[in-house]
Amino acid sequence: RKPEAQKPKAPALKQSQKEKDHPPPPPSDVHEPPSSDRPNGAIYRTGQLLGKGGFAICYDGRLAGTKQVYALKIVKSHMPQKKMEQKFQTELQIHSKMNHPNIVRFQRAFSFQKCTYIVLELCPNGSLMDMVKRRKFITEPEVRFWTVQMAGAIKYMHSKGIIHRDLKMGNIFLDERMNVKVGDFGLAALLMSGKDWSNCRRTTLCGTPNYIAPEILSKDKQGHDHAVDIWSLGIIIFAMLTGKPPFQSTTQDEIYRRARALEYDWPKLNNSENYISEETKDLVAMLLQTPERRPDPDTIVQHPFFTCGWMPQSEEMTPDLREKAPA
Ligand code: ADP
Repeated sequence: RKPEAQKPKAPALKQSQKEKDHPPPPPSDVHEPPSSDRPNGAIYRTGQLLGKGGFAICYDGRLAGTKQVYALKIVKSHMPQKKMEQKFQTELQIHSKMNHPNIVRFQRAFSFQKCTYIVLELCPNGSLMDMVKRRKFITEPEVRFWTVQMAGAIKYMHSKGIIHRDLKMGNIFLDERMNVKVGDFGLAALLMSGKDWSNCRRTTLCGTPNYIAPEILSKDKQGHDHAVDIWSLGIIIFAMLTGKPPFQSTTQDEIYRRARALEYDWPKLNNSENYISEETKDLVAMLLQTPERRPDPDTIVQHPFFTCGWMPQSEEMTPDLREKAPA
């Protein structure tokens, strides 16, 4: 057995496959075709590459003749894999119906030169993932501020019968004032409409190993419902404060095993720079309970975690609050 020697090959293959799936960089002028609300069409002047996803590339773009800047998410109109095309259709359908201050605003979508463009609110401060990579970990006051906003976004989605199913640091973006904005609705699901939608479960296996709630993996599948987003919020809070998700492991199976067993440790060293309070630990433990016991967003924001220490005001938020924190 030489598992180690074979390892490097797999990522290399995957990467070249990915490159093929991405569209080419956009031209400097992207033309939106005329439509009923824009009879003359529009032109977007493209700028910098913001990032690449599974099959999308993102550029910033300015609407010609205005000062308005956006993120242009670009995918090939005909994707090589049916599954990807489906993911993208779901994303368009669900994201376009969302209207909340902590959800990336969907402006419009159009086709141009064999590509589909989604015009999104620009989040110039990157994702929570970028932030944690740069800073190693985030302070409790920042986590308080962002968790209230994320809980608000989750409450809104769930009230519309939408479960996001892929909440993770890489899908949560920061606007110019450091407000969080939930993005990437590619794995979201619309629960059946009607009053009793909490009984309508979806059974698709989805999400990213580190963030997947154990009930999605269970053998006696009953499906899963909106509580999966609450689990992911628990993982995000832990990951922001410590720099890595709680069940991090080298293999997917081991991550799942640890998640089922709720096997996680807070860092031992509670130095003043990376202080983790008992209230935080209690909140995370509540979010990682079995689905029926997980609190809803309104209950979450009532937790003592939010009042046991400094809660920054919007105006106080900066890219690094450590410079502002009271001594
Ligand atoms: P995919 O759905 O293919 O995973 P993403 O939605 O994650 O694609 O976008 C890919 C990258 O583009 C992100 O990691 C991020 O760096 C950047 N990005 C996406 N949306 C925005 C936005 N609204 N503002 C700024 N950057 C964005």
